[in-house]
Amino acid sequence: MKECLETTAAEPPDPAGVLSSAGDFDAGHHPLAYAPDQRPGRRARAIPLPHVHVSARTKDFHERFYPQASLKDWNDWRWQLKNRITSLPDIARILHLSNDERRAMFPGQTGLPFAVTPYYASLLDPENPAQPVRRCVIPSMAETCAGPGEAADPLGEDSHMPVPGLVHRYPDRVLFLVTDFCSTYCRYCTRSRAVGGHKAAHVFKKRWERALEYIAATPGVRDVLLSGGDALTLSDEALDWLLSRLSRIPHVEFVRLGSKVPAVLPQRVTKSLTRVIRRHHPLWISLHFAHPDELTPETTRACEMLADAGAPLGSQTVLLQGVNDDPATMKALFHGLLKARVRPYYLYQCDPINGSAHFRTKVGKGIEIIRSLRGHTTGYAVPHFVIDAPGGGGKIPVSPDYVAGYAEDGDLVLTNYEGRTFRYPDGAVSGNPA
Ligand code: SF4
Repeated sequence: MKECLETTAAEPPDPAGVLSSAGDFDAGHHPLAYAPDQRPGRRARAIPLPHVHVSARTKDFHERFYPQASLKDWNDWRWQLKNRITSLPDIARILHLSNDERRAMFPGQTGLPFAVTPYYASLLDPENPAQPVRRCVIPSMAETCAGPGEAADPLGEDSHMPVPGLVHRYPDRVLFLVTDFCSTYCRYCTRSRAVGGHKAAHVFKKRWERALEYIAATPGVRDVLLSGGDALTLSDEALDWLLSRLSRIPHVEFVRLGSKVPAVLPQRVTKSLTRVIRRHHPLWISLHFAHPDELTPETTRACEMLADAGAPLGSQTVLLQGVNDDPATMKALFHGLLKARVRPYYLYQCDPINGSAHFRTKVGKGIEIIRSLRGHTTGYAVPHFVIDAPGGGGKIPVSPDYVAGYAEDGDLVLTNYEGRTFRYPDGAVSGNPA
């Protein structure tokens, strides 16, 4: 049985070693996720895991489907990655698949990769294909139907890449796609064309160097967003190395990191990771959540550890038909996130990737949800509802209209959350366009 170890490198991270040590991909292995601490001859010492509360449901699941794995194994993120569920026989052992799901699971049926961590699988309803979190990760034949207006790359990211893996769309910031690996793949992923490709480590090594050179040579870039794939699936050493390199570029003022790890692989948030995060402030973290069912004790603990490490946490949620497209679900999600110290930041209209029609709602649904929240709950619980404009237009905010217009005397007429009108003496202020 595999020992549950958090390992500490005997020497400071070696940038060349971090990249060159990685092996090739194989099922469930990330080339940069198992980096130097597992190399032969590398000294490692065991650090006891902090107490992790495992919910009763997850505990039952673990004992039923993985009786050979100890609780230490289960709480080890490397064990979770090694034991990802990636095939029809594996998932059929756990869920009663519908005919539609079973057909969609046949290799080559859909263009999207499939993988689910055992932890996230423990949240799925084995009997109900319509359960929201199950719909997020289990393929359906609807993915095979490309509809009008859909595209593999609706945001035009590939045409804004000055070097491979670096999207430069806004003048002062870049999106750095540091990996194509996720522990669990979302069926509505905007980058489904680019994730799960299992590219070899040397490909990323070259990409990282070219991207870093580009950022260093572009003084206008003050903000770098590390995403992928999932940036928190990198090893501590690889992440530390990357963040150190970025910190040496004088015009990079701060770094953001995008991840769904706390929702799908909360075991990844270890003390060792939080030490890396502490070393690289200001570092902001954008987390991805879809449904309140994802807010388990394990996930809450992971968010709290990241917050304690000093990283401001924001969340991003994609509006998904049959998953979270009703005010009560969204309110429960956003309230739960605030309790976990995560600020709901963006609510996205679902991007029109190929085969996404079954997930997309009318834009009016998002406006209705924002209207149901604004004024009815804490302002921090109300995210910005945005459409990432197809073709590369960037995020465009969409919101209910609370401005009724101008009165004849120049007052601005406003409608509040209850539908009552109020006037603001805008005309009395010189220079206003009354
Ligand atoms: S975690 Fe993010 S990048 Fe990975 S599959 Fe989900 S949406 Fe895509």
